[in-house]
Amino acid sequence: MIRLREKVLQEGLVLSGNVLKVDSFVNHQMDPVLMQEIGREFVKRFASERITKVLTIESSGIAPGLMTALELKVPLIFARKQKSLTLRDDILVEKVYSYTKRETNEVTVSRKFLSPEDRVLIIDDFLANGEAASGLARIVKQVGAEVIGFGIVIEKSFQPGRDLLLEAGYRVESLVRIASLADGVVTFVDETAEVGKR
Ligand code: 5GP
Repeated sequence: MIRLREKVLQEGLVLSGNVLKVDSFVNHQMDPVLMQEIGREFVKRFASERITKVLTIESSGIAPGLMTALELKVPLIFARKQKSLTLRDDILVEKVYSYTKRETNEVTVSRKFLSPEDRVLIIDDFLANGEAASGLARIVKQVGAEVIGFGIVIEKSFQPGRDLLLEAGYRVESLVRIASLADGVVTFVDETAEVGKR
């Protein structure tokens, strides 16, 4: 997606620890027109899949997830992150380690929103080590529903998440793929460009 790539170049900020800050259009302030385009692009890529639900994780997955769900006219479910829970039958729970926050959360979805017949598209803002994505897939599998694939806004291809999901047999569609953030420079997988060191 060229417009998304341009935004990353213009507004992305490379932080230490290989973290890309995109809080001017994804993670804090959001660009609604770009989000709408992102939703449309995911729908185009998964057009033939008869998706019945979109699943994401709060909070930054909600905007691209909702735009995708709107385009598909299916519900969006966002998994909640909670510190610790007393076990309950009516919720699906998986542990997910957060790369950026360096903490483990229990990620939960109410059982009533997923059924074995569901064909689920999982959306997230970033794919890094694949912890969030795998946790969401495990939640879908707990009810015997099908994971149709993953729609990722920004993939950090130098981290193992993509390969992990591909090896598990999942389809991964990433709108922007970053090969490296070394020395504060954004290098895309198939092209090279720079974000000035800031
Ligand atoms: P993973 O679970 O694949 O290791 O990391 C994905 C999650 O961590 C995403 O939900 C995203 O919120 C966060 N994340 C990972 N890397 C980055 C990054 O470079 N920038 C930002 N803004 N979030 C990231």
